[in-house]
Amino acid sequence: MLNTDVLVLNSGFIPLRITNARDAVCLLTADKAVPVIESDDFVRSPSISIRIPSVISILGYNDLPKRKVVFSKLNIIYRDDMICQFCNKRFSVRDLTVDHVIPGSRWQEITGKTLSSGYSSWENMVCACKWCNNKKGNRLLKELGWSLRTNPVEPKYLPHIIISFEKAQNKGWLPFCGFNVKLIKLIA
Ligand SMILES: [Zn+2]
Repeated sequence: MLNTDVLVLNSGFIPLRITNARDAVCLLTADKAVPVIESDDFVRSPSISIRIPSVISILGYNDLPKRKVVFSKLNIIYRDDMICQFCNKRFSVRDLTVDHVIPGSRWQEITGKTLSSGYSSWENMVCACKWCNNKKGNRLLKELGWSLRTNPVEPKYLPHIIISFEKAQNKGWLPFCGFNVKLIKLIA
């Protein structure tokens, strides 16, 4: 129960992150946050009994999440909307990989640059399902007759929090899911 997810809002009710109930209860008992939506479950100790929250708001904290997008495998997958850039289908994260469009073994020949220069970058890496990635191997797109769904560039902005629509609905989070939350439909 203490591992259940809790949505954390700033004091202006903008979502900041998702934490677990254990952390949320600590913030509440330290008077650093107030509950916004509570669940029917309690956490009890000899001295206190607190309803486990589903949404909390941090007191006196009005900042927004940072906008700079960190370069990471997961953020490449999110930039590409969890859609394989080769077969145009959406997959769950566990079936997705990140593919180097120009493979390492061909990088120098094609670009005239060393691997440290642009090979692992927003521009040369795209979201690919593991099947397409496997099929592509060390080949270039033109050798396969493939093309990219979108032109890969560094994203200016990615939603700060990405959660499933179902989860947001079940937990009563939907009213708080504004500009920095991306809701996705889970794929079985
Ligand atoms: Zn694919």
